[in-house]
Amino acid sequence: MNNPVISANKLSLTYQTNDGPVHALQDINLDIKKGEFVSFIGPSGCGKTTFLRVIAELETPTNGTIQVNGMSASEARMQRAYGYVFQAAGLYPWRTIGGNIKLPLEIMGYSKEQREERVAHVLELVELSGFDKKFPWQLSGGMQQRASIARALAFDADILLMDEPFGALDEIVRDHLNEQLLKLWARTQKTIGFVTHSIPEAVFLSTKIVVMSPRPGRIANIIESTLPRDRSLDIRESQEFLDIAAEVRDGLRTGHADE
Ligand code: ADP
Ligand code: MG
Repeated sequence: MNNPVISANKLSLTYQTNDGPVHALQDINLDIKKGEFVSFIGPSGCGKTTFLRVIAELETPTNGTIQVNGMSASEARMQRAYGYVFQAAGLYPWRTIGGNIKLPLEIMGYSKEQREERVAHVLELVELSGFDKKFPWQLSGGMQQRASIARALAFDADILLMDEPFGALDEIVRDHLNEQLLKLWARTQKTIGFVTHSIPEAVFLSTKIVVMSPRPGRIANIIESTLPRDRSLDIRESQEFLDIAAEVRDGLRTGHADE
């Protein structure tokens, strides 16, 4: 099981638009191993969302290949190999939290019992036990985001793709959710692909940080974190943490210099 869970090889993607081609991704080579927590960081428009969408087969690469769990992105999608968390929680306001989480399971024909069991389990994972009968508007922004993570976990896929899930939240809530997410990751041993704008968030969460540069979106640097997997927020004051943050910042700067 040492094969990469996600493997991109010479992957490029160009959008054709009325204003001409947009080179969103160019020559991306990346392997993500099982159980890694990989953050993608880079300025707006450098192709972070596009890359997650390629993994989820929401976009098709123009060149090169992507493999997910040793399969094509298409096969992986059929097998529901991943859950996807978007920047906006995107919960249906007319459904309860439980109802939102159950929706994809209903569509897939899970029995009522199985659905109830899954909802209780994933709500427990995001520390929202007892909130299944509430409506989204009764929850704070941070709780809504946790509910949307619970929904992404409903199928128990091994891979979790998260596109700036905490970008709209204030720093205190974000800190708390970052700690919760690390706990969830340790408990479930999922492989996580996480997009962020925040250097501290990327360094705090990740075992590997992919620094990207824009136009066309390329990988400027891949940093393997030396921090222990089991970490708490105070690690952000350690020299090791600051050194990794400085390395990310350098990567972002270099990416811009050769634009
Ligand atoms: P990021 O998530 O890093 O901000 P995106 O992956 O959203 O970047 O976008 C990368 C580039 O591709 C940007 O220049 C963006 O404008 C462009 N782009 C994204 N989606 C589309 C699309 N559907 N059609 C045309 N251009 C797009
Ligand atoms: Mg984006």
